[in-house]
Amino acid sequence: MKCIYCNVENDLTSSDIISYALTGAKLTKSFVCKQHNQYTNDTYEKKFIAGLDFYRNMLGLTTRDGKPIQYTADLTIGDLEIHDVKISDRQALYSPKDVVVGRDEQGKKVILAPQQRLEKFKNANYEIIDISDAMIHKTMSSDSFTNNEALHSIGKIAYEWYCYIHCIEEYIENKYEEIVSYILNNENREDIVTIVNDGRHYTPIDYCSEIGTNSFYEYDDSDGYRYVVFDLWNTIAYKVRICKSDLAAKIKYSKPVIALYQYRIDGSSRETIFAICQGDFNTELHLSTLNIKKLTLEEWSVFVKRLEKLGSTFILTLRSMFPKVRNIEANLSKFENGQIELAHLLDFEDSTTIGIIQVLNILYENRTSYNFSESFSKNIQNIFALNDTTLAMNQEQKRNFLLELKQLNQEGILIDYMKNGISIFYQIYQNEQEKNEDLL
Ligand SMILES: [Zn+2]
Repeated sequence: MKCIYCNVENDLTSSDIISYALTGAKLTKSFVCKQHNQYTNDTYEKKFIAGLDFYRNMLGLTTRDGKPIQYTADLTIGDLEIHDVKISDRQALYSPKDVVVGRDEQGKKVILAPQQRLEKFKNANYEIIDISDAMIHKTMSSDSFTNNEALHSIGKIAYEWYCYIHCIEEYIENKYEEIVSYILNNENREDIVTIVNDGRHYTPIDYCSEIGTNSFYEYDDSDGYRYVVFDLWNTIAYKVRICKSDLAAKIKYSKPVIALYQYRIDGSSRETIFAICQGDFNTELHLSTLNIKKLTLEEWSVFVKRLEKLGSTFILTLRSMFPKVRNIEANLSKFENGQIELAHLLDFEDSTTIGIIQVLNILYENRTSYNFSESFSKNIQNIFALNDTTLAMNQEQKRNFLLELKQLNQEGILIDYMKNGISIFYQIYQNEQEKNEDLL
């Protein structure tokens, strides 16, 4: 084994092919030397990942020690606008252990904290505000996805994935010089990594992928080059030029059915097939791309719509639900003992928590039709009539469900209602674990 960037044989280290920060599914291989691993990490990936914190939080990805991802966003509270506020979850905003810091329109520092805390500051000028209807918002700018660091990180991911899939364990200069030079020399080129804006990609990928899933495939384009298409989270697809097409292998790659590799947020991965060419199979495939340097607002708005789905979609897997259910259970017992208020129990209207409470209840209501010999995802698809394991909840549905929960609380039956949902979840979880043990 040699480094796939420089052919050094010693000092190799395990490279995260898809950064841990972007996926639940680990994909690593020791085919990069320490120097080049560190170079790509320090030069591109750290900044690229930092720019995606908001989206990573929405997807429910966590830090390595399981904490929610912090991100910066803007806050509107009545007439007050506070910018660049660091937020990790809604609870941190409503009952901050520490102060929340941001800046106002003039760029002056603004501190948000419970009154008792601010009283400790002598001579401080403060204003009492009601934050019960504070709105967190974030401008989804294209920069995080199209800046130099983003494009080079994507180039690195695509090249390493290509080497991984083909068991390439060295640097083959005459084939991969262009992509490797782009990655290692921070080249400012516009033809290596581009963004796909072709419905022939997005239509079928939306059918066979779900929010949060990273998908990859390779194909030979009619322009004579071989590309890797990397679809980040089922939102934005990048087309990365890897090398010249290999004519001998061309037949294989110009078939309409392509192998699609998917790495999902819950840690699972799969290989499936992907039918990309619709219509005339005789014409060679050319996926159209955007000019990133001249990206218009109109072009970008299509991707904003796709990115918005990250925040209103739940990924219904036992793995992703388990920590949230544990959290709801812990809060429910505090609520029962009078230690916390209803607002805290409902996680200050956090969409994921509210969605999960609803899912638990639907599972409970349908408990007699739950088939324990089938997998959780199969059952979820039957009960919720879904094509995959993602469920979306819009603002209106959320509001209605919140009213329902408040009503149940007034009637004094909310605690039992939630306990029923939690208990059926644990029953399912335990059953699935036992089944998996049987497999081992
Ligand atoms: Zn190297």
